[in-house]
Amino acid sequence: MPFVFSRGIFSTGKRPILATRYSIGMPLSSTAEPEVLTTTAATPEPNPATPRFESWGRYPKYGAKVVPLTWRSDFPAVLDGSHDSALPVGLGRSYGDVCLLKDGTLLQTTGMNRLIDFNPETGILTAESGISLAQVLDFAVPRGFFLPVTPGTKYVTLGGAIANDIHGKNHEVAGSFGNHVPRFELVRSDGTRRLCSRTENPDWYSATIGGMGLTGLITWAQLRLRPIVSRNIDYEGIQFHGIDEFLDLKQQYSNVEYTVSWVDCASTGKNFARGIFMLGQHSSIPGELKPSPEPKLVFPFDAPGFALNHTTVSLFNSVFFHKQMKPRVKTLQDYEPFFYPLDKVLHWNRMYGKRGLVQFQYAIPWEHAKEGTIAILSEIAKSGLASFLAVLKAFGDIPSLGMMSFPQAGIMLALDFPIKPGVTFPLLQRLGDMTLEYGGRLYPAKDAAMTAPQFQTFYPEWQRFARFRDPMLTSSFWERVTDSTGAKSIL
Ligand SMILES: Cc1cc2nc3c(=O)[nH]c(=O)nc-3n(C[C@H](O)[C@H](O)[C@H](O)COP(=O)(O)OP(=O)(O)OC[C@H]3O[C@@H](n4cnc5c(N)ncnc54)[C@H](O)[C@@H]3O)c2cc1C
Repeated sequence: MPFVFSRGIFSTGKRPILATRYSIGMPLSSTAEPEVLTTTAATPEPNPATPRFESWGRYPKYGAKVVPLTWRSDFPAVLDGSHDSALPVGLGRSYGDVCLLKDGTLLQTTGMNRLIDFNPETGILTAESGISLAQVLDFAVPRGFFLPVTPGTKYVTLGGAIANDIHGKNHEVAGSFGNHVPRFELVRSDGTRRLCSRTENPDWYSATIGGMGLTGLITWAQLRLRPIVSRNIDYEGIQFHGIDEFLDLKQQYSNVEYTVSWVDCASTGKNFARGIFMLGQHSSIPGELKPSPEPKLVFPFDAPGFALNHTTVSLFNSVFFHKQMKPRVKTLQDYEPFFYPLDKVLHWNRMYGKRGLVQFQYAIPWEHAKEGTIAILSEIAKSGLASFLAVLKAFGDIPSLGMMSFPQAGIMLALDFPIKPGVTFPLLQRLGDMTLEYGGRLYPAKDAAMTAPQFQTFYPEWQRFARFRDPMLTSSFWERVTDSTGAKSIL
């Protein structure tokens, strides 16, 4: 279904048609094509005649052939005897090169987005892997269901969410996305199809959750949704000053479903590591359950490189901190601004200009989490390299099911940097080394800079995982981090 898109700061597209049909209890066959069921648009974005694919950070930029998949049986037939390497991709919301393949074939799944089955008794939804979480929400919320785990944008696909085993604000109580995916189908380039779950092909199940698209194409998957009675979230925001106060709050509110903090990583001295600790729970008071409106704002152009600098970022961070004037604020909030504040402005990544942005995201285990976080935040503040968005969060100890999953119990920090030649990558190199020193790891979904030795230390299972890789599938990320000579480094 084509989606009408017009450019401009207040441009919006026509609202797509909501999924009107779904089958309850429809038997699932791993080979038969599903019925054609419409869903809402994956994301309000242009669908150019010549598809171009870039990751969210818009760095690195690589040419690739983009082949849209429409049916579950398209793969591997679309490769049509080609010996070029390929990679399944979703909506390109990964920041670096985990969803890129230089000069290869990208198999874009967003046309393969049908709902297959929904069981309101169990909350288990079955859908093709190219469905976006926005589409799932449009279907689920009016029926009183919500995602079990959601990232900070709803414009990611089900397949992409599994392949990066994404995490949300509820990691401490819910674990990561894969923990809520009971079963999926994996298709390999030799045409073999496997049903994967904890009991069927469990090794393939574990390799594919967090498997970065390298083990095969996930054609459909089940997702266990959670019930809600309202769109509203009981929200509370609490100011904190420093990591000790953050840790105290984390301890105090460990039973709250969603917790996340914004931390000012530009300030030093008495304002060092100040932030806002944000708590949320789905409201238990029944309220309206309607789908979300379309986002109306679009960041209209690539901002000039000088727009982001230490002064503008410090100002932004100070305004954000003082926006919450009181040390403590309690309110009832719609789930959109709570979970997806950045989705309000489409293409906000253009704010970083044509060069793009890189994200740095680590998880450091509790043993060294506090000292590691203080040291890394100090290094970032000292560098003066602008960063608007720094997210600080505790990961809980529910084990991820993926062999290569990123989350581990401890502290997680995520922040964006603009790309400044000669400055950004040396800083990322230092921060990566510090992460290593404190026993942590970086997140492939957000990475454009980790070196092969760093990756191989962060993920000691990588060689076992490599045995599950489909010989036809690879990514620019994988080529970079498994290249022991460093020759393919993009730094
Ligand atoms: C604003 C913003 C906020 C974010 N917040 C979070 C967050 O809070 N937590 C978090 O964990 N992540 C977060 N992310 C990252 C994002 O959730 C992940 O990168 C996600 O995997 C992107 O999904 P996608 O559909 O865009 O997939 P892509 O980025 O296109 O691809 C991601 C990976 O999935 C693989 N893949 C895609 N489809 C399939 C398939 N059908 N079969 C097999 N492999 C497949 C690709 O090969 C690739 O390796 C955020 C990103 C943005 C832009």
